[in-house]
Amino acid sequence: MKILSIAGVRPNFVKVAPLHRAFLAHPSIESKIIHTGQHHDAVMSDVFFDQFHLPQPDYYLNVPPGSASLQTADIIQKFDRVIQAEQPDWVVVVGDVTSTLACALGAAQNGVRVAHVEAGLRSGDRQMPEERNRIVTDALADLLFATDHTSCDNLRREGIPANRIYLVGNVMIDSLVQYRAKANALTTVERLGLIKKDYVLLTMHRPFNVDTEAGLCRLLRVVNNTATLRPVVFPVHPRTRTNLIRFGLFDALATSPNVHLLEPLGYLEFINLMENAALVITDSGGVQEETTYLHVPCLTFRPSTERPITLDYGTNQLVADLSPDTAGQMAEKILAGQINPGKIPPLWDGQTAERIASIISQFP
Ligand code: UDP
Repeated sequence: MKILSIAGVRPNFVKVAPLHRAFLAHPSIESKIIHTGQHHDAVMSDVFFDQFHLPQPDYYLNVPPGSASLQTADIIQKFDRVIQAEQPDWVVVVGDVTSTLACALGAAQNGVRVAHVEAGLRSGDRQMPEERNRIVTDALADLLFATDHTSCDNLRREGIPANRIYLVGNVMIDSLVQYRAKANALTTVERLGLIKKDYVLLTMHRPFNVDTEAGLCRLLRVVNNTATLRPVVFPVHPRTRTNLIRFGLFDALATSPNVHLLEPLGYLEFINLMENAALVITDSGGVQEETTYLHVPCLTFRPSTERPITLDYGTNQLVADLSPDTAGQMAEKILAGQINPGKIPPLWDGQTAERIASIISQFP
């Protein structure tokens, strides 16, 4: 059977890498990778192909930058030609981005079955584009692979038949398990002049935090409050950088004392910094899961999370009021040693991609 796996943005590469490897290793599966080009540059895309030893994508759709609807339309059109040429048995989509939804819809319109990896995550906040993408993708999917029991409950509640839903664990953790030792062997912390467990790692890129001047001013206050406690390392996402420059705030941030602004990092360098951080402050989806796996305290600067398992089991806490003062107070407690090491959720064991390959191969 032939499977096309879709990747478009940074976190997709982290998830598609173990899937592609597990598909290749399966005797009855032919696996191809489609890169939509949503993230296309060296730091957001190429470095992941290099570090994960992924082959060049079989198809590169080269979607131009633009609004979600324009990108969706462009991807659907180009992916249609790929489907005609390849006649796949399955299209596998991961996560919750524009490429996920566009390719799920493109496949379904062509009568090709869709498997969604990370199905059933829900924040309950339809203002977020990711939440809309998740709901529609899950409604279109023939097989739904969930990371945790809450996601399975969400899907059943939405009327998805139980025989399509599989609790398999977390493919993002597959990559972490595989590359953790290699990341740990790097000297990223030392090269930045930092001390292990004595700095805070920060990432922000969600539109509600970085697309408006008010959001960015709030972010600056979070960074500056935290920097009074410990050095802050902040690899800046391209979206965040563009908007900081647009609103004339970049220089203020770049000259803040005790703040290390960096380009987005390669996966191995980032994991090295994450594992050795005293605290991570983020609005990322994947980082909430990775910190839970690594038992590193995490403050998620968002009103809600689609990954409540990281709150219930893991090290994650929400700064739900989006107040820099609240974030500062919570950070202070954690840095003073009030830490809950948390537990790793069931099946987050590095074997999820193999489970998915084995299940999907039963539906030739
Ligand atoms: N990541 C990385 N370099 C960075 C920041 C993040 O390799 O500078 C990794 C991180 O370890 C995780 C993934 O990128 O595997 C998360 O991506 P992102 O936060 O962009 O997306 P989200 O998970 O929020 O969809």
